[in-house]
Amino acid sequence: MESLPSVPNGLEDLYREVIMDHYRNPRNRRAIPKPSVVVEGYNPLCGDRVELQLEVVEGRVKEVAFRGQGCAISQASASMMTESLINKSLEEAEELVRAFRAFMTDQDVPPPANGYADLEVLEGVKKFPVRVKCATLVWNTLQEAIKTYRAGGKGSQITLKE
Ligand code: ZN
Repeated sequence: MESLPSVPNGLEDLYREVIMDHYRNPRNRRAIPKPSVVVEGYNPLCGDRVELQLEVVEGRVKEVAFRGQGCAISQASASMMTESLINKSLEEAEELVRAFRAFMTDQDVPPPANGYADLEVLEGVKKFPVRVKCATLVWNTLQEAIKTYRAGGKGSQITLKE
């Protein structure tokens, strides 16, 4: 069991519990049958890896899944991100990436309004810049996947290094 950054507002136990639940029981951790694009992200600072698979139909995320290994924050963030993406358009997905990055880098910015509710538990990660990279890895991987898909990189596999 690894230790997680502390949260100063008394929600620490709840936050830890939700993060560990996503880590132990990740949502959408699998491979999808017909991915439009597959991108792997790697965070060398912590050793986190996520492979993100998207099936895009008519500009929307029809299916999304990930596989990976790494710290609880990296895998929980991936689990929560996939829950945020179902049926979103690629534009909405990109807006989520922007909103999540702002949430992680600015103390005053709340979690993305149209994302999965559990994302709020990553609030406690903000104060630890090294761990922020664990949380943002899968989101940066998503941005790269959208870019690759738009460039016609159907089914391509690349590795993004943070
Ligand atoms: Zn990590």
